[in-house]
Amino acid sequence: MSHSQQPCAACKLQRRKCTQECIFAPHFPPDQPQKFANIHKVFGASNVAKLLSELPATHREEAVNSLAYEADARLKDPVYGCLGQISILQHRLKQLHMDLDAAKQELVKYMGQQQQQQQQQRSADLRGTAAGDGARGERAAGDVQGVRAKPTTSSSSYQS
Ligand SMILES: [Zn+2]
Repeated sequence: MSHSQQPCAACKLQRRKCTQECIFAPHFPPDQPQKFANIHKVFGASNVAKLLSELPATHREEAVNSLAYEADARLKDPVYGCLGQISILQHRLKQLHMDLDAAKQELVKYMGQQQQQQQQQRSADLRGTAAGDGARGERAAGDVQGVRAKPTTSSSSYQS
């Protein structure tokens, strides 16, 4: 293992001898010095060592990742840390929920209009087909009569 030859990032930064039992070694490889540097700056190496030693080995990597994330956020935003990111995301989520509700309402309104139009169309079609043959026949007859009737009336009114 490279750990036995090269000290882990934590031991290197603290100028300690990295032993086989080093609690940091599995999580802070020497090629990622910044990861430990950030965590050390924010939480302190001894606090992190204590925290890790109280966790089962299977959860340590996960804990180190979340500490690294929190430390990074705290260094970028010394006032709010990752809480700043959380509240930004919560705000954005709230905004998106509101946008989604508005879009749903818009959709319901639009679908209602379309349904109404379709119903009107359907009832108009039904009326059309039900009375269709008779009405068409009457209308055709009426038109013919109308067309025939009109010139005679107009011509008669011209004559008088
Ligand atoms: Zn070490």
